[in-house]
Formats: sequence, C-alpha cells, structure tokens
Amino acid sequence: MKPAMDVAGRAEQVRSELANNQCDALLVTNLVNVRYLSGFTGTAGLLWLGPDEVLLITDRRYESQVEAEISDAGANVRVEITNDSPKAILTKMLAKVTRVGLEAASVSWANQRRYAEWLDGSELVPTDGLIEGCRQVKDEGEIARMVAAASIADAALAEVLPMLVEVPTEQQVALALDAAVRRLGAQDSAFTTIVASGPNAALPHLRPTRRKIGKGELVIIDMGAVVEGYRSDMSRTVSVGEPKAEALKVFETVQEAQRLGVEKVAPGRPIADVDKVCRDRIAEEGWAEAFVHSTGHGVGLDIHEQPWVRAKATEQLRVGHVITVEPGVYLPGSCGARVEDTLVVASEGSRTLTRSPKDLVVA
Ligand code: ZN
Ligand code: ZN
Repeated sequence: MKPAMDVAGRAEQVRSELANNQCDALLVTNLVNVRYLSGFTGTAGLLWLGPDEVLLITDRRYESQVEAEISDAGANVRVEITNDSPKAILTKMLAKVTRVGLEAASVSWANQRRYAEWLDGSELVPTDGLIEGCRQVKDEGEIARMVAAASIADAALAEVLPMLVEVPTEQQVALALDAAVRRLGAQDSAFTTIVASGPNAALPHLRPTRRKIGKGELVIIDMGAVVEGYRSDMSRTVSVGEPKAEALKVFETVQEAQRLGVEKVAPGRPIADVDKVCRDRIAEEGWAEAFVHSTGHGVGLDIHEQPWVRAKATEQLRVGHVITVEPGVYLPGSCGARVEDTLVVASEGSRTLTRSPKDLVVA
C-alpha cells in the first residue's frame, strides 16, 4: 500500500498564492492541474478555486467517475454536472469575487473569449505557473508513485536489453519496452519511448525508426512509466559489442558528466550548478556545442515540468523536488549518447529513483 497523497491540502496551498497573483479566485482549465487539485482524471472539466470553496464542473459522461475519484483522493471538492454552458453555475460563484485568474499558458484565444463571456462582470487576470509552482515539491505519496513508475521502467529495460543482440529495429525495441512497461503494471509509457541507434542517436528526440541496430553502435534508450498519473524518466546508452574509439569517448564523457551532475543535487544548491558541472565536463572534451539541450527538468504528473535544470535557473533545489539529470553529446552523422536519471532531492543529497545499470556494452 502506497502512502496517501495530500490532495485535500493542495487547494489551500494554491489559495495562499492567489493574492501574490492579484486574483481572488482561479479558473483551472489545464486538466493536469484539475487532476492535481481534485483527483479527477476525465478529459473534460473546469475547476473553480474560490476563497472558500472548490467546485468542479464536468458533463454527464463523468457523473459517477468524478464522484468516485474525488472521494478516493480525499479532496474537498463540490461537483456540478451539466451538459450546457457553465455560465449560470459560474455566475453564482462571482458574488464575493472580482478578479479571476486564468492559466495563461494553457488557455487558447478562443477559450479566453468564452471564459470572458461566462465570467462577465469580473476582471480576468493572467496567471503564469501558479499551480505548477506548487506542484514542484512532491509529498511522500507522490514520491512513492514515482518510485513505483521508475522501478517498472527498470524491470522493463532489464527484460528487453538482451533482445538487442538479435539486431532488431529501433521500433521493435521500443514496442517491446512499451509492452513490458504495461505488463509490469504501469498505466502506460511516460512519453513516446525513444530508441535511437548509430547516426540516429545524434538526433536527441527522434522517434524510433525501422533502422536495424548494428553492432558497435551507440543506442540511446529514453523511457519511463506512469503509475497513478506520476511519471519516471530514464535514458541509458548501450552498445552491442565495443564501439569505436570516438563513440566510446562520447559515452564515457557523458557518463562522467552525468555522475558529476548527480553529485551536485542537494537541498539549497543553486539549480544552475547542476547544469554547469555537466556542461563544463563536456566542454573539456571540446563538445560544448554538441550538448544541445538543457541538463534536466522536473518530473511529476507531467513528464516535463518545473523546476527547469538549466544555466539560466535562478532557484535553489528544495527537499521534495524531483528532477532529471541528463547531459548528452550529439555528433551529427556519427553518434550520440545521453545518460539520465530521475532523482528526488532528500534532506541530505538526493535519492535516485531510476536504478538500471549504466554499463555500455550489453553483450
Ligand atoms: Zn528522458
Ligand atoms: Zn528527461
């Protein structure tokens, strides 16, 4: 039994941020944030977070699901079901409210016009990352779900790696990983699984192709699992047999940079330090320009979320942050390598959730 998540406490935490964002209430329309505050996983719904009430409005398709999920989550959320415009319901909520926040990053222009009509008489205020900021620090229940997701991904990778000696295509390996992740108890893969071999490994986010994986090539495998909405993220670089000298040097450099980055993860540490140590190690080998992405990101209900592990980061790591450290080197036309772990910032240092071995040669 996993520890419970404190879903009920989240509304109060978000509410305490409302004043800083110059609003009295928030209309939550990003469905990941709706889930965060209520436990509801349906694909249509609006959540009103007012000064003294949380209200979820959805349609009849979700009538029984919504009540069950809110109750399972232990959230204190009232539900209204309607297949019509929610304007009448929302109008009643405006009695004590003048400024209503919208989630600017996820509201389309069309929806902004619709919400303005529904919330006629109130002032709409754009908010930026308000709930996402609260989501950064995970509680024990959330971490337990991410531990479960990471260990399923570890088991799936261990099961599938031996298949590489049979020179499968990238797609065959990705499909086997996706199937194993689900069979081992995850809802799904955490994102589109990446299997990129040889010159394809120089393209950081390539989808798996029909290319057969050759002996002595670097193969980047980037995968994760979802458990109760929470994700894991892990990359390993492997090779069937010894790679050539340059590829080996690329791998060893990335492996070392990643180890140095992980060592930096601790509460109070500037996030930018984690990026810098990885980048400096890669630059020493003359590959600064070949590390084309940021060093990592937060992980949780979304695969990529706050905090961002990059040179421009101004925040410090906090206990309960869950981040990745994933330096990479990509040499166009030749090869590429990335090594990535998901880590939780602990009271001293960090705890690594993704535990798969980092050996290069699989057979
Ligand atoms: Zn990844
Ligand atoms: Zn990642």
